[in-house]
Amino acid sequence: MNCFVCGKKKQDFEVWSNKLVIGITYDSDFQNNDVISSMSDKSIICHQCIIEIQKKIKSQSNSE
Ligand SMILES: [Zn+2]
Repeated sequence: MNCFVCGKKKQDFEVWSNKLVIGITYDSDFQNNDVISSMSDKSIICHQCIIEIQKKIKSQSNSE
C-alpha cells in the first residue's frame, strides 16, 4: 500500500492510518481537511504529507 497523498511506498516512511490520524491529532481543522476527510479506513499517509497538511491548516487559520 502506498501513501494516499504522494504515492510513496509503505516501506519508505512512517505510516499513519486514518484512525491514527484522527486519534492523535484531536484537531477538528485537521480532521476536516479535504485530504484527511477523504481518506478511507484503509488509506495510509506518510509523515511528510501529514506535516504538509498541518502547515497548510496553520497558514489558513493564521490568515483569518
Ligand atoms: Zn506521502
